Amino acid sequence: MRPFGSLRSHGAGVLRPEHADQTVSLAGWVARRRDHGGVVFLDLRDRSGVVQVVIEPSAGPALDVAHTLRSEFVVGVRGTVRLRPADKVNADLPTGEIEVTAQRVEVLSGSVTPPFPLDDDAEADEVLRLTHRYVDLRRPRVAQALKVRAQIVSVMRRVMEANGFIDVETPILTKSTPEGARDFLVPARLQPGSFYALPQSPQLFKQLLMVGGIERYYQIARCFRDEDLRADRQPEFTQLDLEASFVTEEDIYELLEDLFATLWEEVLGERLPTPFPRLTFEEAMRRYGSDKPDRRFGLELADIGKVFAGSDVAIFRGALDAGGAVLAVRLPRGGGLTRRELDEMVEFARRRGARGLAWGVFEKGGELRSPLAKRMAPEEIDGLRTETGAEPGDAVFLAAGPLRQAQELLGAVRLELARRCDLVSEGQWDFLWIVEPPMFEWSEEEGRWTAMHHPFTMPSEQFVDDLAADPGRVTARAFDIVLNGTELATGSIRIHDPALQTQVFDLLGIREQEAKERFGFLLRGLSYGAPPHGGIAPGLDRIVMLMTGSRSLRDVIAFPKTQTGGDPMTAAPSQVEAGQLHELGLTINLPERDNQRSPR
Ligand code: ASP
Repeated sequence: MRPFGSLRSHGAGVLRPEHADQTVSLAGWVARRRDHGGVVFLDLRDRSGVVQVVIEPSAGPALDVAHTLRSEFVVGVRGTVRLRPADKVNADLPTGEIEVTAQRVEVLSGSVTPPFPLDDDAEADEVLRLTHRYVDLRRPRVAQALKVRAQIVSVMRRVMEANGFIDVETPILTKSTPEGARDFLVPARLQPGSFYALPQSPQLFKQLLMVGGIERYYQIARCFRDEDLRADRQPEFTQLDLEASFVTEEDIYELLEDLFATLWEEVLGERLPTPFPRLTFEEAMRRYGSDKPDRRFGLELADIGKVFAGSDVAIFRGALDAGGAVLAVRLPRGGGLTRRELDEMVEFARRRGARGLAWGVFEKGGELRSPLAKRMAPEEIDGLRTETGAEPGDAVFLAAGPLRQAQELLGAVRLELARRCDLVSEGQWDFLWIVEPPMFEWSEEEGRWTAMHHPFTMPSEQFVDDLAADPGRVTARAFDIVLNGTELATGSIRIHDPALQTQVFDLLGIREQEAKERFGFLLRGLSYGAPPHGGIAPGLDRIVMLMTGSRSLRDVIAFPKTQTGGDPMTAAPSQVEAGQLHELGLTINLPERDNQRSPR
């Protein structure tokens, strides 16, 4: 590819032996300079890569310029490509068979000393890197992630367009579009006291586009969710948001499988087997204790309630008598864990809020070593062995309590065991659909039903006529794509009947008046002939993270926020001038301590 810009003839990284004897002009950054007095070597870097430039005494004034260069100066170089002698070939560098002997070197821009070394291997403090992100972006790994990101977006657009979807923009300054998080609010100067909300997703607009007859919509959409700090979340992130009319789940499954298979093939050169397996939410919870199971390492849960039905072990008996469950997960060869490691697993469970976690090790002779062993009847030990399939040398971990709690605890325990025992072999892509999740979740905190996906999701057909009879049993026509234990996309078939939508709002405790104020425009829209429709929204940042093997979302976003939601480079969020507040009719009224907090 010809580099863009008249200041150069070639990209530094594209030069090869076939360019030998050609005169080239290059422009880029000084990645490294080695000054041997009589001769200066530069590693010249631009987006395409790095090439070695040699400035010899015969270059005259160019050598004087070369002596003044420092790391990250921007230079223009004119010179001739020549083959390196065999003993000077650098096999680690794509341009390592050649070098460029300079005739002219020109400083295009100076640079102060970089705040950290720019090679990929050098560890630098993340806040320091993000404060100088413009320098950090020159590191090959960061730059590469952005290139792959652009390629992914380009493939996404192509697949969507090939399937007849059109790109439509939806507003950023809008009204609350709930996806279960807090809204970011923007004060409206022209209507003092009123606020816009930034969209948590384009959900309501894409549904109204369906009412509008657009039929197939997509957008690379920025979403904003003001959530409490959790590891590796970004308050603004990007989704491939899409919606289609006259579809069922099967249409969306097929489209998304085609999308992911194309991405994997074109970006990674790998073939993904399709269709992806499907697991119901209940089955995922039962077997893996999670609605986004990582299935790459077995460790399935076993229900061992019937073994302990009449047990003397109080925690098991108590849980079962209260209608709960006793579950176990077997760790093959877990007998090799030390007592301290076993205790650390108990500690892990406690930190997650559990009362405890029981463990046992089946010894070589078949007997059970466990703090609970003495209280277990021989048939119970036998039952535990049979139900979990434990062999001598295996460990088992047991949780007792309300079913969901016990499932979730062991779901977390199996992940932790896999992490500690290094059970995940990399390079596997385990895609699956999680289908038929519950429609509603009871929130103890709020004392009401909440929507598990969002309130616009269609209940499964058999429940539509009587949602209120037992809301806890109602399943939804919703689906998630999970890859290696990470949720990549969530979507659903939507409610297109305003009466049913009102009924769902009602069940969620959103009364008529409130529903009108918050979602009146949606209800009105649905009443003007809404086609059956559904959609989904794969999370772009997560996809890029997994496809590039990056450790954090921050590594695949050009200007990310830190875990406290701040941008160290711009120092956003920050306080604003009194005049701006005045114009908006706002006063700040914070406790003294918060008022003085630094804006980061
Ligand atoms: N609004 C998305 C959907 O298509 C879901 C999401 O944003 O998480 O259902």
